[in-house]
Formats: sequence, C-alpha cells, structure tokens
Amino acid sequence: MLLNNIKEVREQIKEWKSSGLKIGLVPTMGALHAGHLSLMKKARETCDRVVVSVFVNPIQFGPSEDFDKYPRTLEADTKLCEREGVDIVFAPSADEMYGKGQRLSNDTLTYVCPPFFYVNKLCGKTRTGHFDGVCTVVLKLFNIIQPDFAFFGQKDAQQVVIVRKMVNDLNVPLQIVQCPIVREESGLALSSRNKYLSEEGKKEALVLSRILNNINLCFKKGITDVSALKETAYSFLTEKHDMEYLELVDKNTLEEKQQADADTIVLIACRVEGVRLIDNIYLGE
Ligand code: AMP
Repeated sequence: MLLNNIKEVREQIKEWKSSGLKIGLVPTMGALHAGHLSLMKKARETCDRVVVSVFVNPIQFGPSEDFDKYPRTLEADTKLCEREGVDIVFAPSADEMYGKGQRLSNDTLTYVCPPFFYVNKLCGKTRTGHFDGVCTVVLKLFNIIQPDFAFFGQKDAQQVVIVRKMVNDLNVPLQIVQCPIVREESGLALSSRNKYLSEEGKKEALVLSRILNNINLCFKKGITDVSALKETAYSFLTEKHDMEYLELVDKNTLEEKQQADADTIVLIACRVEGVRLIDNIYLGE
C-alpha cells in the first residue's frame, strides 16, 4: 500500500502495534535496486510488518549536489516493494515531512546534529551538513513509524555508525540492523548514482572495489602499516579517477588507525565521470 500522508501511516502503525506486531523500517531515497531489496528481505525475515520509506530528503543535499537530478522512479519502486512483500511504501512530499512553507534551514527548523568527531571526516568533510540532514530525517521517520527494527546498508558505513550513535545517545527505542553491501558481479557496489555512469564509466568505477580488495589482500599477507596499505592504491589510479579520500578507521568509532587490525574498515570515495562513488570493506573479511 502506497501512503503519502503521516496521519494515515500512524493510524496503520497504531493498529499493528495494538496487535503486538513487530515493525521494520527500511529508509531509502528510492531508485531502488538489489541493494535496497536485500534490506527489505532482511526486514521481512525479522519483522511481522515492513515499511519502506521513499523520500529524497532535500536537507541532506548540499547546494552544489544532485538533489534536482536525483533519479525519482516511484512507480517502479512501488512495484518492487510489492514484490518483496512490503506492507507500506511511505512516500511523503517535502511539505508533508517538513510542513508547508517551512524554510529548510537550521535557523527555522529543528535539526539533529551528530557529534563533530563523527562528521568532520570521510564523507562529512566535503558534504557539510549532510549528516545533520540524514539524522534529522531518520529521527523523524523513527518517530512517525516507531519501528522495532530499522535496516541500513553497510554501503553507507559512516551513516550507520552515526545513526547508531544517535539512537544510543538519544535513547531511541529500536534496534539498528546493518546489512552487507550488494555488488554487481564485476565487484561494483550497487548505487542509485550508478545510473549517471556510462558503460565506460562503470568499468572505470571498478577501481574502488579493486583498491579495497587489494588492501584487504595486503592486510591478510601481514601488512598493517596504514601508510603502506594506502600507498598500494596509487597503481590503480589514472586521470579518470578523482580520489576524494581513502581512509582506514575503527569500524565502530571512526577513529583513524595507524596500524590496521581486525576492527578496521577501509573507506573510499572517488569521482568517476563527475559521479561521486563510495565503497568500503572490513579488513580480514
Ligand atoms: P539510499 O536510497 O541510497 O539512501 O539508500 C537506502 C539504504 O540502502 C541505505 O541504508 C543504504 O546504505 C542502502 N544501500 C544502498 N546501496 C546498497 C548496496 N549496494 N548494498 C546494500 N545496501 C545498500
């Protein structure tokens, strides 16, 4: 069932809750692919009822980012959700989420701002305010749906750490479930933004997973010095790749590592054909 309106969603949720049903939420921005579907499958296995939100959240995009051209495919998304046995697709407008006429700025709207230590690095370094926008909309969705479980992809690893931190710090009564990255056979991590790439660009984009796999291989061979591990990336890069970051951090706290260990996650962001792509891997996997 496709719902656009908060009141209707709340009514349905209230009914389910009164019957003691466990509710799972999968927050998305739509343009659904097999990565999103894996979250829905996990939600289906874990919960009695599944809600998928489809909302391209304006406040998590910077002024020079792709909010206007972000792919919007609600009809196809709704069909995919139905096929996965999703009970509600919640696709509100920005007016429904933030209030009609509401100026979307932290001068006039309450934002949830995750701690500086978690946002002044990796994607947060160049995407100023991004995680404020994410946490704000995610907490709103948690308050509207009141799920018992919420499902997020490891693909956005910094996001999951930050959302977990918010849930913990603000005592939000639900459990976060992280699901593994779904990849094309080639190794390319699925992303709604892959739609922007040409065939040639998709091949060039394989550099992200190749760099990560190679670092993991070197780690498994016994190299733990982070500078040495990072240096292995250079041989993969050409002028087609505009690397934004390659970092090795603690998988739970995002603290930078000097020596890699089994708690290390390697994260990469790189532009190919102007498209910003991200990927990551847990060392030792
Ligand atoms: P998005 O629509 O890009 O905001 O993503 C919605 C959710 O799907 C997030 O929790 C993402 O981490 C997750 N997701 C996106 N791509 C993948 C993927 N390739 N594998 C697993 N989860 C993913």
